[in-house]
Amino acid sequence: MHVGDDFTGLQELSMGVTSIRDPGNDDKRTIDRRHRAAAGALLFPHVYPSSLIDGKGPYTAQFANVATTQAEAIRLVDKAKANDFTGIKFYGTFDASWLPAAIAEAHKLGLHVHGHIPVGIRPMDAINDGYDEITHINWIAMQAMPDDVIKASNGIMRFEGPGRYAKDVDLDGLAINTIVGAMARKHIYNDPTMVAFEGIYVPENGDMAPSYAPFVGTMPPATERGFRTGGFAVPKDLTRADYRASWAKMVALLQRMHQAGVPIVAGTDGSGIEIVHELEIYVQAGFTPAEALAAATIVPARLVGQEAKTGSIKVGKTADLALIEGDPSAHIADLRQTRVVMLDGKLLDADALRSAAGFSGRPTSSMH
Ligand SMILES: [Zn+2]
Repeated sequence: MHVGDDFTGLQELSMGVTSIRDPGNDDKRTIDRRHRAAAGALLFPHVYPSSLIDGKGPYTAQFANVATTQAEAIRLVDKAKANDFTGIKFYGTFDASWLPAAIAEAHKLGLHVHGHIPVGIRPMDAINDGYDEITHINWIAMQAMPDDVIKASNGIMRFEGPGRYAKDVDLDGLAINTIVGAMARKHIYNDPTMVAFEGIYVPENGDMAPSYAPFVGTMPPATERGFRTGGFAVPKDLTRADYRASWAKMVALLQRMHQAGVPIVAGTDGSGIEIVHELEIYVQAGFTPAEALAAATIVPARLVGQEAKTGSIKVGKTADLALIEGDPSAHIADLRQTRVVMLDGKLLDADALRSAAGFSGRPTSSMH
């Protein structure tokens, strides 16, 4: 998730989230939070941040470090390493011709490389240039999109293109077979952030995405109202049913990747409270609850190189734990029922954390 204000730490801990990958934020604030947490002035999960690098243009990402030359891109990679970031996230307006040199620099420094796919190229090109991970499910589908989508993929087309065309993508066709096969063979991760796309394609305008339903009545009214903006407006020549069919195809694509052995790591790209619903979607896509849990524990621990310290319960590992009322190995939704959370061996009361984060009560489990 992109970490928000300080309360985010309390919110995430209340949900049993003891580590976060932040795929791009205001670097100054990321560093400031790290210093305050280390000094004991801020209660926060461990954060593994990526520095976001984009090119210059009308669609440059908010908070991005902007590179206008290849040399500048390499300097920004060096700066990320100097500031103890763990990865580099490239964005849509980054000049694709600079990827090989910028990625070589990142890999030389031991940095993880992931991101959107720069405009004009496809995800297979980014993998061939050295990406370790592709962020978001839409960028996997992009391998099978028409050229007019690829030419404009740094703008709204990255959502509207897959919304229009994904439903007709042949999962047994050459494009999808090529990318899924390459990702499995080369161990390229995908952080599909399914909840972000469900929220775009599925709800009618004014409706709430399924991620937020378990929290209704426990959030401040203005926050809850903010989650009722609904999905994207459907272009005039399409219907909501078309967008929902494209969403269903993206869930099937996730299933295909999982079956092929592509490592999947759970992320939300949202406010953070969507994480359990993200895992519910993985179960809908054929993951066992244990496999869905692994996508939020040991698999991302491996991605950030911390699997010897965290990511599973084992003697000698850091005590980053959550005690759940229920059985998430049978009902993944039970994961919302955190009661006690342990961060670095310190016990935290989940209800007290919820209250401090602004929730008036526990979420419901739902979706049993
Ligand atoms: Zn992103």
